[in-house]
Amino acid sequence: MRVKFWGTRGSIAVPGKDTTIYGGNTTCLQITLDSGREVIIDAGTGIRALGNKLSESGDRVDVHLLITHIHWDHVQGFPFFDPVYQPSSKIYIDGFPACMKGLRIPFDTKMGDGFFPIRFDDLNAEMKYLDTLGHGPLEIDGTVVDCIPLQHPQGGFGFRFREGNKTLVFITDNELTNESWAGRHPDDYVGFCKDADVLVHDAQYTPEEIGQRKGWGHSDYVATLNLAMKAHVRRLILFHHDPSRKDPEVRKCLEHCQELAEENKADLGIEAAKEESEFTI
Ligand SMILES: [Zn+2]
Ligand SMILES: [Zn+2]
Repeated sequence: MRVKFWGTRGSIAVPGKDTTIYGGNTTCLQITLDSGREVIIDAGTGIRALGNKLSESGDRVDVHLLITHIHWDHVQGFPFFDPVYQPSSKIYIDGFPACMKGLRIPFDTKMGDGFFPIRFDDLNAEMKYLDTLGHGPLEIDGTVVDCIPLQHPQGGFGFRFREGNKTLVFITDNELTNESWAGRHPDDYVGFCKDADVLVHDAQYTPEEIGQRKGWGHSDYVATLNLAMKAHVRRLILFHHDPSRKDPEVRKCLEHCQELAEENKADLGIEAAKEESEFTI
């Protein structure tokens, strides 16, 4: 599978000179399965540029869209996803149980609400809510997608993709703690990520900041690194960069993480997610 980051930022889009390396758009990933099938994760502001690229290709858009949760930074780009205006588009939606509500709300839900000039019900694309991931795995062209509930206000889902013997885990907006939280034990995440080829995980905060941010639903990069080491993943990608974090500061977090991994003799490649970067598993 091939993975491309269209949005890497947490909480709010922060375009500008301080975010040109790691990116200013909020969560959106494009996963192209070996079959050619396109799967999109989340509809943050990064989905706008992805939608334009899909529309410009001239091919009929036929995609899966998986939503982790419905906080604004994960659904706000949906009204600007060009394929929703094309009658030829087919969008299969799944993920967090409230995902359809989350995709609707950025539009005018009733005439005159005033959030957006177009009503959700007037969109031209064919959209189908699969309602599978809330109950069990979803299979897309032989790739099995599983989910795990997140430690995040109002909840959320992390996703694991298994294609042949390759595994990608994507977990954003998740607070890794040493204590059990909302019925989940910290080891549940280790089990979910076990031996993954690539783990993309929330690393919004520094270890210094996390004390003031407990219960906000995000992890510091040391907690994220510890998960990756315990689960023996091969490659860790730090994600959901704090909106206040400038490019050199993101790099500093990354370098500290790499030093800690080396001290622990971990056989682990670490990167920080960069908008428009891609990799193949
Ligand atoms: Zn978020
Ligand atoms: Zn969130």
